[in-house]
Amino acid sequence: MSLMILLIFVLGLVIGSFLNVAIFRVHDGLSVVRGRSKCTSCEVPLGPQDLIPVVSYLALRGRCRRCKSVISWQYPLVELGTALLFVAAYVLAPSTELFVRNAIFIAYLIIIFVYDLKHMLIIDKFTVPAMIIAILLNLWLGVIPAWSILFGGVVLAAFFHLQYKISRGAWVGGGDIRMGALMGFMLGLEHGLVALFIAYLIGAIFGAGLMITGKADRKTPIPFGVFLALATVIVMFYGQEIIGWYLGFFN
Ligand SMILES: [Zn+2]
Repeated sequence: MSLMILLIFVLGLVIGSFLNVAIFRVHDGLSVVRGRSKCTSCEVPLGPQDLIPVVSYLALRGRCRRCKSVISWQYPLVELGTALLFVAAYVLAPSTELFVRNAIFIAYLIIIFVYDLKHMLIIDKFTVPAMIIAILLNLWLGVIPAWSILFGGVVLAAFFHLQYKISRGAWVGGGDIRMGALMGFMLGLEHGLVALFIAYLIGAIFGAGLMITGKADRKTPIPFGVFLALATVIVMFYGQEIIGWYLGFFN
């Protein structure tokens, strides 16, 4: 293993623990930057030895040091997931600038993924700043044409806005509209549409699986932001390959 990959893995673990804090504190209306982390049960502030990503969780066998209440699996999983995606971003990115961009995008997408999975909500507090960062980073890097960034955001937002209007808010929420815009601003028009298609594909496969196993029926609400975030990461990594593979059918 190269030293660089090890460093990026550790950076991913640390960023992952900050993402956990952001997800938790935004939901509880607390400040993300101020105040110490506490046990959610006994409210005893955590010491430095309890804040080491993954390691603390394993050392404590998933329980609070003081009150022994169970600590959510979310914490080590988000840390590990962030670390692995950061390494993947490093290995797959053609340049350092693109790695940095993708790591920033991934951090936001993980927050959106976990928050929607937990609370069935895509909130503006995450999507709106991410949109601004996505537009600025993409314009600055110049890998996606400016028109594609702009139209990507507008077209994908319009796609969800139309569904919102037709169904009077029954199929999708306002959060999905902003998430569509974010995907377009992150990926550009072409890759954004591919991501949209993949999100529906994964969502349909997952939904069918739930219905077959009797875990859900047609009315069960699905946190669609989870699939949108997942598809965005897949297309960020493999967009070119997916488009090449798809076009290969017609040659
Ligand atoms: Zn406790």
